[in-house]
Amino acid sequence: MSNEFNFSIKDYQSDFKPTWCPGCGNFAQWRAIRQALVELEIPPEEVVLVSGIGCSSHMPNFLNVYGLQTVHGRGIPVATGIRLANPELTVLVYGGDGDIYGIGGNHFLHSCRRNVDIITIVSNNFVYGLTTGQASATTPIGTVTRTTPRGSIENPINPIAVAIASGATFVARGFSGDMTQLTNIIKAAIDHRGFAFVDVFSPCITFNKKQTFAYFRDKVMKVEDFGHDKEDFHSAMDLANRRILRNKLPTGIFYQIENTTTYEERDFALNQGIIPAKTDLELSDEQINAITEEFY
Ligand code: SF4
Repeated sequence: MSNEFNFSIKDYQSDFKPTWCPGCGNFAQWRAIRQALVELEIPPEEVVLVSGIGCSSHMPNFLNVYGLQTVHGRGIPVATGIRLANPELTVLVYGGDGDIYGIGGNHFLHSCRRNVDIITIVSNNFVYGLTTGQASATTPIGTVTRTTPRGSIENPINPIAVAIASGATFVARGFSGDMTQLTNIIKAAIDHRGFAFVDVFSPCITFNKKQTFAYFRDKVMKVEDFGHDKEDFHSAMDLANRRILRNKLPTGIFYQIENTTTYEERDFALNQGIIPAKTDLELSDEQINAITEEFY
């Protein structure tokens, strides 16, 4: 944290205007991420946001923090590398359900079990938006989309349950229609020591006419309103699998445990205080040639 923090939410905004459809849920997350960074007093130069491909993955263009748009589904491994190279940075991954649960699903699983101290936020709109509305990993069964004209015949992934079962130490869900709660969840995720995962109900107003803002407003319910114990694994799984509150869609922190060891703490070099990004390698010309020749 900076000693002389003097940034406003505008300072985290780039000169590029978002290209999302007016009304897209991504706008709320764009604002909530910036608001969380301001409230936590993390200056822009200490933040990296990494994305993959998709409407939401354009996010690095619209933020004035370090950013990288990688290839489809690969935001998590790139962010992991950045964090391990310099654990003094706040490293966020941002992407959509198609990007992170579908194409990058394998990386999602392993990031949960590794417990690297990064934050993954998924804009979940239940379709592939950028490619104009195909079924994604979270599309509910029976949904008619451009790739499922007779209705999807696949069971959707349950990202909250998968994350908890895979070992994530912070698992939450927000809603783009509730900025205050979403900002607080993102703040808690950034504050969390270890892998933090936030699924966000984020309506695609152009290609999904079912999971709309009105649909979610009618169904969401904050977990804190019914006394959920976020440290209780079984309660969190019951909530995630809708064994309780079947007619509601819970939002808030489902699961969080603090007494764990992060990947960074288990890593031999980092454990010794060696930060790769700040270590002079001083390779000789011969060593550099030998390394580059490996790629020919
Ligand atoms: S297509 Fe959907 S997800 Fe993409 S910008 Fe438009 S509303 Fe948002």
